[in-house]
Amino acid sequence: MNKVIAKKKYGQNFLKDEVVLQKIIEAMPHNNNKIVEIGPGLGDLTKYLVDVKSVEAFEVDTDLCKLLQKKFEKEIATEQLHINCGDVLEAWKSELIEESYDLVANLPYYIATNIILKALADPKCKNILVMVQLEVAEKFCANENDKVFGSLSVITQSAGSSRIVVRVPPTAFEPQPKIDSAIFLIEKSSDRNDEIFEGMLRVAFKQPRKTLMKNLSEIYEKNNLQDAFLKLNLAQTIRPHQVSTADYHQLHNIIQRNFNVRRDSTDE
Ligand code: SAM
Repeated sequence: MNKVIAKKKYGQNFLKDEVVLQKIIEAMPHNNNKIVEIGPGLGDLTKYLVDVKSVEAFEVDTDLCKLLQKKFEKEIATEQLHINCGDVLEAWKSELIEESYDLVANLPYYIATNIILKALADPKCKNILVMVQLEVAEKFCANENDKVFGSLSVITQSAGSSRIVVRVPPTAFEPQPKIDSAIFLIEKSSDRNDEIFEGMLRVAFKQPRKTLMKNLSEIYEKNNLQDAFLKLNLAQTIRPHQVSTADYHQLHNIIQRNFNVRRDSTDE
């Protein structure tokens, strides 16, 4: 095979470390779901995936698509693998696939957060096992009181449970990225679908170092907030990362029932 030159614009860092590839396979949830792989690249992960499950792959790079079609001729013929050549975000404008699936992928980092949020919202997606940059994995897997606990952590905890499987150094890839990576797993128990709740989270974490009260009082009456904090036993000085996901949901319920959004500090 001719040497493939990695295309930066597609976030191509190919995972070459067999131990790490094996760790992904070992961490896969045991079920009968199909696998969706986004960005199969040279097929190094795909070759393990097709051994255990049937795979629907999405690859944007037409050169790699051709290479994959050749490499996996047999698996394509037996329908163990289907390759969709094109941008996965375009394909996702409608239903990605009809069956229940687990997303297993070494994601293109430039769109990784977007892809994970889409998978969290997709009722067909049951589990998410992905490699991303370490900093992003830590946000999706953080717990309250962790410094990086933020809206992504609350959204994830609202949809299921998450954990970091393993950290991965740049040396595992070709070409090597400048940053550390991590594989993490989200086992979903429900789907992300509450835009109003997420709107509140955006305001809550807008200035993470300020108090939650200060952030939320940008759009809600302070008196109402003070009452709600009292009801939930939250200190008025509490910071956004110190509040649990359960308390964010309780706060949201109180706000939905009792509050009017203040208009004077919005962009009117
Ligand atoms: N899975 C391979 C591996 O582990 O070596 C490659 C991973 S590489 C980090 C990301 C892959 O995603 C590349 O093959 C790239 O071409 C592909 N990709 C980038 N943007 C994409 C998009 N919008 N839709 C589908 N695939 C994309």
